[in-house]
Amino acid sequence: MVTYTYEPLADYAIGVDVGGTKINAGLVNAQGEVLCMVSLATLAGEVRTVDRIQQAIHEVIAEAQSLGPDLFLKGIGVGSAGQIDWASGSIRSASDIIPGYAGTALKDILHEHFQLPVIVDNDVNVLALTEKHLGAGRGVEHFLCLALGTGVGGALVVDGQLVHGAWGGGGELGHISVDFRGIPCVCGGIGCLEQYASGTSIARRMREKLARMGIADDSVDTREVFARWHAGDLAANELMQETLSALGSAIASFIHMFNPALIVIGGGVAEAGDHLFTELRKEVARKTMPAMLDGVRIEPAYRGNWSGMIGAALQLWE
Ligand SMILES: [Zn+2]
Repeated sequence: MVTYTYEPLADYAIGVDVGGTKINAGLVNAQGEVLCMVSLATLAGEVRTVDRIQQAIHEVIAEAQSLGPDLFLKGIGVGSAGQIDWASGSIRSASDIIPGYAGTALKDILHEHFQLPVIVDNDVNVLALTEKHLGAGRGVEHFLCLALGTGVGGALVVDGQLVHGAWGGGGELGHISVDFRGIPCVCGGIGCLEQYASGTSIARRMREKLARMGIADDSVDTREVFARWHAGDLAANELMQETLSALGSAIASFIHMFNPALIVIGGGVAEAGDHLFTELRKEVARKTMPAMLDGVRIEPAYRGNWSGMIGAALQLWE
């Protein structure tokens, strides 16, 4: 039987990153260093996700015990896929990727089970904490994060604090419309940023474009689009200009709304590299009021491993 002790001033917390395919859990200190960790397949649809989360936490505690017999923990921080009711720490909605997860009172269940303080937030909000403590956001009071992956996630930090909104859904920056006559979005909106700037949408639009040109190629993925773009391929260049235009419009709007000092761009699309950042900075400059643009940095996200899990744990020191 593994034992652990709650200690409010402890220098360690457990961070858990819950995604559709993997759950990463680790012992993290106040500096964001990972002392040990485990990674489990989520097995969504096969096993209750909350049971899988508990298993991951038990395994980390067991692992941590082997490092030293007296483990003092500050608590458990979770960064989870889905929309999170921040005050209650419950899953308000989740996509079909994790069946049966919506409605889970995650904070209450984990608190009951482990008798430790628990904080639950969404996966992009906790990434913003990683930026604040370890990444480009160090020492920056006002910044926002865009995670360009399967979808487009966002997080907003104002006065050094995450903006949660009325119940925790604040910062859904992927669903700002960049074209009110544009592509219909899964959310019910029209022309959402996500439809142009997610990795999924970049690959899909490229395949559609190639099909229209009579050279259908279903194997084209996001990485292939970037490779073609860097090689000077015309179709890929047109496609990426549209992507940059959408991103630039959205970021210009965010700058006018929030007056941030920094925009952090992460997710798979950020791996398109310097070319993307150089072009994006120009595009944003074209669309932003000069006085508002002054001093705004656009930087890639923290690249260390396990950034979601680290940010999840860092919630305990917020
Ligand atoms: Zn949308």
